[in-house]
Amino acid sequence: MLPFISSHFNTNFTYEGTNIGKEPPKGGKNACALCGNHRRLFDPPSLFCSGQCGMQKIRRNAIYYTDRFKQNHWCEKCYNRLKMEEPIQLDDGRETKKSMLLKLTNDSVPEESWLQCDKCQDWNHQICALFNRSQNSKSTCFTCPKCYIKEKGDATSDGDTPQAGSKTVKGADELPHCSLSRVIEDGLEKTLSKAYEKVAADRGCTLSQVEKADGLSVRVVSSLEKKHR
Ligand SMILES: [Zn+2]
Ligand SMILES: [Zn+2]
Ligand SMILES: [Zn+2]
Repeated sequence: MLPFISSHFNTNFTYEGTNIGKEPPKGGKNACALCGNHRRLFDPPSLFCSGQCGMQKIRRNAIYYTDRFKQNHWCEKCYNRLKMEEPIQLDDGRETKKSMLLKLTNDSVPEESWLQCDKCQDWNHQICALFNRSQNSKSTCFTCPKCYIKEKGDATSDGDTPQAGSKTVKGADELPHCSLSRVIEDGLEKTLSKAYEKVAADRGCTLSQVEKADGLSVRVVSSLEKKHR
């Protein structure tokens, strides 16, 4: 995927499609055209109780209760202690009542969302296509990186097949850094150099004889901040 990343990706792409956030049809061609994987599952989010137990983690597959904005959660024990008539204050200052809380099971398995290219109809994970849902409205159209590169190449090279390394395609290292990406990239470099030293010591060879993963770049495409009380 990295060779396809362009630093002006978001500004040059247009998004018009309706198939944002839906899933590719089951069976048939349902892998991401960019990474070749099917479902990309995330670690389930950790939920913490807002009740009297004091921010205890709600166990996996346990019953819990939540407000309709899914901001605050209560374990079953703390829910039972809530009084029907007493107002409940949420983190953002809104109020709710016990009778308004929803009963759920802590068994969700979040996965990366999909979007479909309006040109070639291929399905891409949003993360693989560097698609930022919060910055792009649902009423727009999406051109995948492969089609984008093809179009750019067709427009600039008199019909020759565009090369992945052509001038129109920039590398991940040309995307802007942020403090988080610098910390992760520095950490990655340090961890790798330690690993190379260990391999060299284990093999009894010099550091230059160890094969290395050169040219790795880390950039943060999206990051969320979650507030816990
Ligand atoms: Zn993918
Ligand atoms: Zn609790
Ligand atoms: Zn496409």
